[in-house]
Amino acid sequence: MEIWNRHFECMEREELKKVQSERLRETVERVYYNVPYYRNKMQEAGLGPEHIQSTDDLHKLPFTTKQDLRDNYPFGLFAVPMSEIVRIHASSGTTGKPTVVGYTHRDIATWSEVMARTLTCAGANRHDFIHVAYGYGLFTGGLGLHYGGEKIGASVIPVSGGNTTRQLQLIHDFGSTVLACTPSYALFLAEAIEESGISRNELKLRVGVFGAEPWTENMRKEIEEKLRIKAIDIYGLSEVIGPGVASECLSQQGLHISEDHFFPEIIDPRTLKVLPQGETGELVFTTITKEGLPLIRYRTRDLTRLTYDKCTCGRTMVRMEKCLGRSDDMLIIRGVNLFPSQVESVLLEMSEIKPHYLLFVDRINNLDTIELQVEVDEAFFQDKISQLQSLRNKIQNNLESSLGLGIKVTLVEPKTIERSEGKSKRVIDKRKY
Ligand SMILES: [Zn+2]
Repeated sequence: MEIWNRHFECMEREELKKVQSERLRETVERVYYNVPYYRNKMQEAGLGPEHIQSTDDLHKLPFTTKQDLRDNYPFGLFAVPMSEIVRIHASSGTTGKPTVVGYTHRDIATWSEVMARTLTCAGANRHDFIHVAYGYGLFTGGLGLHYGGEKIGASVIPVSGGNTTRQLQLIHDFGSTVLACTPSYALFLAEAIEESGISRNELKLRVGVFGAEPWTENMRKEIEEKLRIKAIDIYGLSEVIGPGVASECLSQQGLHISEDHFFPEIIDPRTLKVLPQGETGELVFTTITKEGLPLIRYRTRDLTRLTYDKCTCGRTMVRMEKCLGRSDDMLIIRGVNLFPSQVESVLLEMSEIKPHYLLFVDRINNLDTIELQVEVDEAFFQDKISQLQSLRNKIQNNLESSLGLGIKVTLVEPKTIERSEGKSKRVIDKRKY
């Protein structure tokens, strides 16, 4: 397997820590002297740049959140004069102002470098044709993939989103080998290919790099079978740089973080304390080479865990597990942390039910109660009451053994749970705190 930057990607961890600590010190000085927001926050905490000598000191620094970016809209957290900024991206929020990010020349070079690593991780090289169906524009997806693709010397096709018929024609006629888009669009394309009558054998697609939204292992299986490609998970967020923060290699055993640029921590989203190695919690990044918009301890809200074991590909960069969900979605039931995505993955394993469900949470006599309503598959719903009862018990047992939490299960008829466009509502929490 090719490795784009063997020097950094395979660095001994002790040496890497020295590099990270040196870069962290530079970053802390940069924000302290150039960003009033960070200087004030550090002074409030009684900290100066001299207090941060290595990555071991990182926990002393305050967190940064999306709200901090909004409060300093649009350019308040930039650490260089605007004359140094060569690119601005923005992500639209569901409410209020967008989140704005700025890049210097060196930041664009860093971004291209980490994207070159990502694409090489997926097995792409200069002989590939990369079909980029991520959106171009203020969203970081399209241009991120684009610059990385050019850097490895591949032929990049900047198709952007939309017009599926033309997408298929170009994939076919140009002989595209690498597909870059969201996983849901990959599935959409797979179905469009089936309907178009184009034979899969006429297409040269070999691998896909998919990200920008959470997706399950089941979805991966479906994409890999339908498109007959290897589906690689990539991770990034515009606040940190865009795509390129982390990527799976071909062994598909977690995503390698480019931690010589983005230093990861895992915290408990409630206590905000750093968790011991290997535990699941919220992913936090400190950018240690960025100039335009360096971020200190940025809370991603994404939940995952890290493994420092050496990967079979030879890279030493830490791996993060495929994201489990968002810390905003976390429920605490009788002291147990629970994510709707965990319930979903148990349900997806069972063919008798549909992944349409709703969790009702309440507190009765000071005790948390939780009930799951889930739709039964049409075919199965015709069956006898006794069979439905045993199905209900099976779901209850599966949930209990995988989540360590007793959940009352109610089976409902197909199509009774309300569908919504966009993000579906999975939880109704009636507890009053
Ligand atoms: Zn690997």
